[in-house]
Amino acid sequence: MGRKLIAGNWKMNLEYKESERTARDIVSKLDKKVFQNTDVLVCPSFVSLGIVSKTIKDSGIKLGAQDIYYENDGAYTGEVSASMLRSVGCEYVIAGHSERRKYIHETNKIINRKVRKAIEFGIKPILCVGESLEEREDEIYEGVVEKQIIEGLAEISKDNMKDLVIAYEPVWAIGTGLNATPKQASDMHLFIGKVISKIYDSETSNELRILYGGSVNGKNSGEILSAKGVDGALIGGASLKPDEFSEIVKIASAL
Ligand code: PEP
Repeated sequence: MGRKLIAGNWKMNLEYKESERTARDIVSKLDKKVFQNTDVLVCPSFVSLGIVSKTIKDSGIKLGAQDIYYENDGAYTGEVSASMLRSVGCEYVIAGHSERRKYIHETNKIINRKVRKAIEFGIKPILCVGESLEEREDEIYEGVVEKQIIEGLAEISKDNMKDLVIAYEPVWAIGTGLNATPKQASDMHLFIGKVISKIYDSETSNELRILYGGSVNGKNSGEILSAKGVDGALIGGASLKPDEFSEIVKIASAL
């Protein structure tokens, strides 16, 4: 088993001081030993990236952003560039989260441009994919996820896949308390692996980390993280609670 990745997506939560406090609490609750086999990542809002970057410095915890823009710089009011993210210490960026697909109408094409821009600037993208409840019920979920992957990874070379992470996040499981069963997660992770093998090769597929996301918490993380093909978790709600988030990290590290 490779290194697991436990990533916290704070979404549009926590003001500046709250972010600092939350980051400080997470740092204080994690024993350095967990970093021997587990990568730990927090993704605060843009506003709090600077203060969280300072707070987690030298702790072993990594910093990520929740979004990125696909142009280098210029007249794009409100957007944040790859070089800005890098300048504040971001090592990762989430791309194509289902909330952005839904509320900001991000398409696979836009997401692909973001993924490519992140890679160009040495930032590791976490490409989020996942089907809606309707798509699962209609049993078209594999096709939906395959399309998100093929289009999201357009023009990305095998070499660039080294630093990329995929997060499988069924939309029906995000923030609903309804997590996928370990078998559902495992089946989809293995399916995603096959898609990657088809686009690239089995080596790329074997090396790729695939996270599960959707209502992961302290109680269910053990069984989800033990499921075949699951290399870590992208965590929303539970990542805002330092006790629970650090508990999940410890569980991942002990597997
Ligand atoms: C997410 O936003 O990526 C997520 C998985 O959220 P939650 O853990 O709250 O379901």
